[in-house]
Amino acid sequence: MNKNIGIYIHIPFCASKCYYCDFTSYCNRDEVIQDYINSVCNEILKNVEILSSYHIITVYFGGGTPSYINSNYIVQIMEVLKLLQKDEDEFREVTIELNPNSITEEKLKDYLNCGINRFSIGLQSTHNDILKNIGRKHTFDDFKHSCSLFKKLNITNVSLDIMYPLPGLTIERFHETLNQVIDISKEYAIEHISSYNLEVHPNTKLDFLLKNGFLSLPNEDEEYEMRNLLINTLEKAGWKQYEISNFAKPGYESLHNLNYWNQGEYLGFGVAASSFFDGSRYTNTNSIEDYIESMATSTSTVIEKDDLDKLDLMKEYIILKLRLKEGIDIDKFKTKFNSDIFDLFEQELDYLISNRLLIHDDKQIYLSDRGKEVANLVWEKFI
Ligand code: SF4
Repeated sequence: MNKNIGIYIHIPFCASKCYYCDFTSYCNRDEVIQDYINSVCNEILKNVEILSSYHIITVYFGGGTPSYINSNYIVQIMEVLKLLQKDEDEFREVTIELNPNSITEEKLKDYLNCGINRFSIGLQSTHNDILKNIGRKHTFDDFKHSCSLFKKLNITNVSLDIMYPLPGLTIERFHETLNQVIDISKEYAIEHISSYNLEVHPNTKLDFLLKNGFLSLPNEDEEYEMRNLLINTLEKAGWKQYEISNFAKPGYESLHNLNYWNQGEYLGFGVAASSFFDGSRYTNTNSIEDYIESMATSTSTVIEKDDLDKLDLMKEYIILKLRLKEGIDIDKFKTKFNSDIFDLFEQELDYLISNRLLIHDDKQIYLSDRGKEVANLVWEKFI
């Protein structure tokens, strides 16, 4: 029986650069979009042999801003992917990331017609001044307009992104954001929320603005309070925190991301995309020129290959599984790696369990509430 795999497609184009962004994304490069899309299609077709032994369960268009480019390009990639479809069971979830100011009714119709069935929209904040502080070009009204288009087209499988801490955000304003998100989710059947912790990367515009005193961030205590507020407010409203940063209504957990967190295999196509299969991780070049050139000259786009040994795989598995609410199933770990987790990681687990960062019951090991707050300290034990 074929194994399951997820497909990631990177669309690296954006209308403008958000101040905090350090993703591989390009503005004002519309002249290369068609060549880039052709290259992605070529890269998919070059991997037909590998993909023939898999069952493609999920497809994810991420970016960048996939909704920035003409929807015909997304349709073109979907047409190529469909050539690989072996049965109706494939492509159970096909997600596209959207920005509120680049959605149109026509684009949404094209997405639906080509088989996209999940929509992930970047809201980040409901406060326009905060959106401005981080260089987002949309407003809360743009987001609400997008929601009305979802409703008009009977789209229900929608996820939204929110961020914290942000410059200009206070506990009260974050509470307001969460309440607005909850109200909107009732009105527009939004079923999934991803929360992102703002990271200030060196050499970004946000880094410059913070270092030079033009903006400031909430302090650590406020950030901690925002995190608790997020979890408590959403859980009280019926949302399940199924992963450390993700909340869903029952049945709407992201299958694509669950595949990552369960250490499933995936193939990434496009500039800077990474893949994981047969125990190795591959990373594509992060230069769009090199990527297009590689595809034109039939040379490899991969700039890094990392062969993971059994110990690497076990450590990675532990970190990924601990992100999930249910944590690690002790028997499943044994079956997967033919080793007892307590024999191999006795010291680390003893330390984390005795310090109440992990909870161990008969069958599972999972993060305690305290462990979730300091998850990075838990991961460090396995790096
Ligand atoms: S939309 Fe996403 S990828 Fe594009 S600039 Fe903003 S954060 Fe970066």
